[in-house]
Amino acid sequence: TSPVYYDEDANIEAIKNETVAILGYGSQGHAQAQNLADSGIDVIVGLRENSSSRKEAETDGLRVTTPADAAAAADRIVMLIPDTVQPSVYDDIKAGIEGGNTLQFAHGFNIHYRQIEPQENVDVTMVAPKTPGHLLRRTYKRDEGTPGLLAVYQDASNKAHEKALAYAKAIGCTRAGVIETTFREETETDLFGEQAVLCGGVTELVNAGFETLVDAGYSPEMAYFECLNELKLIVDLMYEGGHMEMLNSVSDTAEYGALTRGEEVINRDAMQRILDEVQTGEFAREWVTENQADRSVYNQRRQTAQNHQIEDVGKRLRELFVWDE
Ligand code: NDP
Ligand code: MG
Ligand code: MG
Repeated sequence: TSPVYYDEDANIEAIKNETVAILGYGSQGHAQAQNLADSGIDVIVGLRENSSSRKEAETDGLRVTTPADAAAAADRIVMLIPDTVQPSVYDDIKAGIEGGNTLQFAHGFNIHYRQIEPQENVDVTMVAPKTPGHLLRRTYKRDEGTPGLLAVYQDASNKAHEKALAYAKAIGCTRAGVIETTFREETETDLFGEQAVLCGGVTELVNAGFETLVDAGYSPEMAYFECLNELKLIVDLMYEGGHMEMLNSVSDTAEYGALTRGEEVINRDAMQRILDEVQTGEFAREWVTENQADRSVYNQRRQTAQNHQIEDVGKRLRELFVWDE
């Protein structure tokens, strides 16, 4: 099991003299930059010339310059731009990264799959909030935090861990708990999870259920409610109290059906193949190539998802009824 760190394990002093460059002012960037500034850390935001985020960062009272100038001015450079553009932006900023600086990430993909290969005299760390940025910001303002991950890939200063922990405290994550991991573990579990379970697995499960009912002649509205809408209620129960809380809350009939039929739906050999492709780097190579080839597969699959009947039905039903809260 991994160590978990809280406020009392971390000391912001370890980074209080640093200038931190936040590259990007999107989901993570706006939240981390403002939380750091509110914790008394000197922040400079790096954005490209005609960035649509520039105004927001300036309105929030932050200094803004180009990624290259921000990196050159900073002791800690935090990559909070989309993962697919990080390698090319890294090429633009690397001349400004000096020995003793820290290059920091919120996801391990580019380091683990060697799309970015930093020089040996810098620390390379990860502080990854486990929530979207708006929640990181909102909880911080309430003196709360969201959980996060911490990893050290390269420790040139012998203080990489202590300083990353200080950063995690400055953005509020140690208020909720910071779990120690590695770039490899974070990257591979993240990719596997989003592919096989969270984003890929669950949408395909919903679609397959929806199509099976519709093809058998049931109404699309009924199929939508049963296979998609009710999913939230079930997941909320699992989130609150695990599988047993969910199973205890549904009828005995539902529970018996679940316990005897659920297993049959899942293809564990396929899951293992997906994990293999993540571990060997085959998925990463495919995705890097896909980005170089103008995302033709991505765009085509996205179009297919958009044209699925469940999108139309859902849009209609969500407009007719407001059932949340
Ligand atoms: P976003 O997609 O929200 O980043 C958008 C920002 O990046 C904008 O400010 C945008 O500015 C800038 N940007 C985009 N392209 C470029 C470019 N070519 N050059 C310079 N700046 C550019 O990123 P996220 O916050 O979602 O993700 C950042 C990192 O955090 C990623 O590594 C991600 O994996 C990780 N992460 C994300 C989480 C999340 O909840 N979103 C959770 C945990 C980790 P412009 O207006 O110029 O386009
Ligand atoms: Mg992910
Ligand atoms: Mg039911």
